[in-house]
Amino acid sequence: MEDHNRYDVCVIGGGLMGSAVALGLVRSGARVLMVDKTNRLHTASKANFGLVWSQSKGAGNRGYSRFSEKAVLEFTDFTGWLEEESGIDIELRLGAGLILCLGDQELSMRTESIRKMQHEAELHGEKHPSQMVDREDVQGLVGKVALGEEVSGGSFSSIDGDINPLLLLKAMRRVFIKRGGIFINGCAVKGIEKLDENYHLETSSGKIEVPRIVLAAGFGNIPLLAMMGRKLPLVAEKGQLLVTERVKPFLSFPFSSLRQTGCGSVMIGYTQENTGFEIGTTVSAAVGLAKRAIKIFPGLRHVRVVRSWASLRILTEDGLPIYDEINDYPDSYVLATHSCVTLASLHMSLLPSWILGGKRPDIIRKFKLERFNV
Ligand SMILES: Cc1cc2nc3c(=O)[nH]c(=O)nc-3n(C[C@H](O)[C@H](O)[C@H](O)COP(=O)(O)OP(=O)(O)OC[C@H]3O[C@@H](n4cnc5c(N)ncnc54)[C@H](O)[C@@H]3O)c2cc1C
Repeated sequence: MEDHNRYDVCVIGGGLMGSAVALGLVRSGARVLMVDKTNRLHTASKANFGLVWSQSKGAGNRGYSRFSEKAVLEFTDFTGWLEEESGIDIELRLGAGLILCLGDQELSMRTESIRKMQHEAELHGEKHPSQMVDREDVQGLVGKVALGEEVSGGSFSSIDGDINPLLLLKAMRRVFIKRGGIFINGCAVKGIEKLDENYHLETSSGKIEVPRIVLAAGFGNIPLLAMMGRKLPLVAEKGQLLVTERVKPFLSFPFSSLRQTGCGSVMIGYTQENTGFEIGTTVSAAVGLAKRAIKIFPGLRHVRVVRSWASLRILTEDGLPIYDEINDYPDSYVLATHSCVTLASLHMSLLPSWILGGKRPDIIRKFKLERFNV
């Protein structure tokens, strides 16, 4: 049995969500234990695309658009501090991000979507930070690289960008430990019981007693919340992507579906498939991704693909985050959302004071679990 006086809070799940929140908690002075069941699973935190992205987030929900924009705008300060504390260069590039369109139909659909989001922002006296660009503008943005004939334009944001997501995760975990947090990797939580003042966690590494818990376990939150008699409405969406061999730098900013990484590989993304919880890659998906990439940059036809993988996006039924206290279980919290790369800055800065008993931040007041109880 762990000494229950040792920790103020246990964060269950050490992916991008758990690590950002656990880091914020230790930064606030709390004694924090973070546990993760394995370091080998191909979870979203290790298999994502690395975009720090706001321009496509929150159509029909200005609150979520605003939240995503705020997260992106705070990313420079967040990673500046993180890089200094961790000594790790996270390869952040902000200031340009493009959703590229092929053909007229894609362009008109994208134009419509951006117009809608701009209008929603204007209704609140705000400005949506992206605009439509045509083929000529895209050519100007990418310089001399030849574009495919079908490239018709896209939407451009001057605040979006990308990062190395594996280094982000590594840096957050490193600083968490450096600041006094305890991380047990290979510790699966198998039971949760509230007895007296404390939560009694049954884990693969023994029992843990702690007064406050945070469920940040991705899809693992579903069985954990079921132990507390609650349902979590999450939906899995498979995303497969490709990685090429390293090539000379030719693209200095990310597209939503294609980006060149710090080491020169090209990441080509990504499918959106509803195939349940399986994460197998398929040749047909790989072919589709490769063909589209070549339509964008014909020069890529000479570049070899060296890796492909798939993982599951953690989506709620309405696509918006869930940050909530768990009814009837005081001092317990559940956190689940897509876009945990982009939102890492706010997960670290915004959620900890609320989790430690402070006021729920206004900007997340609508992201409650109860909205699904109709
Ligand atoms: C293909 C793809 C591309 C993406 N691209 C982007 C992008 O460009 N930008 C962006 O912002 N987001 C992107 N995402 C989304 C982002 O990766 C996820 O939002 C994020 O990784 C979710 O992190 P998480 O910590 O909530 O969940 P996970 O990554 O699933 O981590 C949960 C952790 O909890 C642990 N766990 C589970 N059950 C237990 C238990 N019982 N006990 C202990 N530990 C447990 C697991 O081992 C795991 O490590 C992408 C996702 C995918 C799949």
